[in-house]
Parts: sequence; C-alpha cells; structure tokens
Amino acid sequence: MSGSLLVDNIGELVTNARRGEADGPLGLRRNAALLVEAGRVAWLGPARYAPAADRRIDAGGAAALPGFVDSHAHLVFAGDRATEFAARMSGQPYTGGGIRTTVAATRAADDDTLRSTVRRLRAEALRQGSTTMETKSGYGLTVADEVRSLRIAGEATDETTFLGAHVVPPEYADRPDDYVGLVCGPMLRAAAPHAKWIDVFCERGAFDVDHARAILTCGQAAGLGVRLHANQLGPGPGVQLGVELDAASVDHCTHLSDADVEALAGSDTVATLLPGAEFSTRSPYPDARRLLDAGATVALATDCNPGSSYTSSMPFCVALAVREMRMTPAEAVWAATAGGARALRRDDVGVLRVGARADLLILDAPSHLHLAYRPGVPLIRQILHNGVPQCQ
Ligand SMILES: [Zn+2]
Repeated sequence: MSGSLLVDNIGELVTNARRGEADGPLGLRRNAALLVEAGRVAWLGPARYAPAADRRIDAGGAAALPGFVDSHAHLVFAGDRATEFAARMSGQPYTGGGIRTTVAATRAADDDTLRSTVRRLRAEALRQGSTTMETKSGYGLTVADEVRSLRIAGEATDETTFLGAHVVPPEYADRPDDYVGLVCGPMLRAAAPHAKWIDVFCERGAFDVDHARAILTCGQAAGLGVRLHANQLGPGPGVQLGVELDAASVDHCTHLSDADVEALAGSDTVATLLPGAEFSTRSPYPDARRLLDAGATVALATDCNPGSSYTSSMPFCVALAVREMRMTPAEAVWAATAGGARALRRDDVGVLRVGARADLLILDAPSHLHLAYRPGVPLIRQILHNGVPQCQ
C-alpha cells in the first residue's frame, strides 16, 4: 500500500515529544490527528487542521501512543521450561542454572525450528504492540550456534545482541578463562557482522566483573554497542561497570546500592527494568521509584525468554511496573516507549513527531491510563508498524 494515511479523531495522543512543561512527560495532545507518508509521521496536530489524505482511519476519540520498544528479549531458543516454572512456584529458588537446559535444546534444534519460534514470538509481541524489539543470542554458546542464532534473530529485527557470555557452557565448566578467550576471540569475530550490540550476564554464577569488562571491551573494539545484564540476583559491580563503559543500558537493576543509583543518574546509561522476571521467579521487584527520584532514565522491557520471564507482553510489564514498582502510569508508558528507545540509543522510535517512524497503537480506551488500570485486557485495537496497518 502506498499514498498517505490520516489517523483522525484521536482523543488523547501520547507523543513523548514535549513542547513545554504543561504537556507532562508524555507530551499529551487532545483531539489530535496524525498523517503518515512513506512509513514516517509527516504531520501531527489538532484534528480540526488535519490535511487531506488518500486513506483515513477514524480513531473514534480513543487514545493512541507510540508502539512499544521492547529493548530486551531472548527469542532464539528451542524447548520450554514450564516444568521448571512449576517447580519454582512450588518453592524451589531461581538460580539461573536452567539456562543450560535451553542451551542443550537450542544446540540440538535445526534452523527452521529456531526460525519458527522467533517468528511466532515476534508476531505475538507485535500483536501486543511491540513495534520495535531487540533480541539476543546466548543459547548457542559455540561459534557456530551463536552465529546462527544471530543470523536468525536478524531476520526478525535490526536490534541484535551477541550474548555469547550468557553462562559458561558445561564443556568449559572447569576453565571459564578459556571460554572468555573464545568469546573475545573467534566467537566475537564471527558474531560481530551479525550483531549491533554485545551483552554479558554479569552475576554470581555467570561472569564476574573482570570477565565482563574484558568481553565488553573487546566488543566495543569490534564496533558493537554495550549493554549488560547486572544486579539481578544480588548486589554487584555490574552497574558501575556499565556506566564506566558508557553502556546504552544496564538491565535488571534489581539490587542497587546508593552509589549505583547515583552513577546511573549521572550517566547516559539507561536502567532497564524487567518486572516479568521478578514476577516469574517470585522475586522482589526493583525499586523504580528510587531510580526515577534520583533522576535516572528508566526503561521497561519483557526479558522474553523460556526460563525466567516467558512473556512477550509490554502491557503486562506496564501494569506490573505501576502496581509493583511504584511507577505512575505515565512513567511506565514512557519507559515502555521512549525509555526503550533510549536504551537502544534510537530517536526515531518510541516518539511521535514529524520524521519519526510511524509506529502507532490505537487503544480500545480513552486514555493511556487504561494500560495499567485494566491489566491483562487486550486493549490495542489497531497497530501501525512502519505506517502499515496490521491485521489484528
Ligand atoms: Zn535477559
């Protein structure tokens, strides 16, 4: 389809583009319209001044917002861990060790099996409003399996992340230094052409701070942007390392010291919170209020993965953030859109202004508040992705 498309009669439009303090953090506009041309926002303003267009969608006075930007997901895997989830819900603690179960299943799977899972989950996420989605490797942990994971991820998104340092695979259990050498050397060389980012799981039981620094520094030298998993299961030096390396994002941030909060607040590193992980591991949630009050930039993402957070739903994460992490509905909606874009260092998504990508969600609701107020309800009536209406 080509030509221009006008989305008219939007009762409340979240733009995330503030013109002044009065707009609030979401840059709200009332009774608005938005014109799409060639996949981009070509105009937006009061509905009464809306220009003519080839086609028109009547939002019927409903709310609309930018598509969600899910900046943290692990979609390339095989098998599921429903049994492990059930065991956890009967009282067994989460340790991260189950990752190895998925590694074994992923290595054993053929390309088409992995591809169909990625497609299914990407489509599932899009139906729930995620118009931008990052995804990682990290269940292959051999040169060949990491490369094919990234290749398959790249069929679904440009935001691909090399996570060879997810855990030390069993065959290197007694010699983690050798595995770090493999990740920094042959694996990174093979993976870098297929990745935009590099990530490390910097946590007790995964990679310590020296290994994490070595791997992330090699990734930077290979031209990749830095992000990391840190401070999920306990306090540690990961957040400080992320800030030191100008990581785009440190993800999880569940256990933070005052110095960690201060470091994040004084940096361009986003704190990405993944409340689906705490929900699914029955763990204490991160304190978003503390980060926001200190002035840190907060993003929300799903962490979609088969072990610790098997949800692809950003609206679910928004509802959890408001209910469990003391975010206001406006802060949570911002974090799930503009915050995710910051975590990917993007300025063309997560925002609606002239020139931005025309990723728009029209709700079956009069206000963005309903995303948290009506948890678990499929509130997204229509989705524009790159300006193209999706079949719902
Ligand atoms: Zn993760």
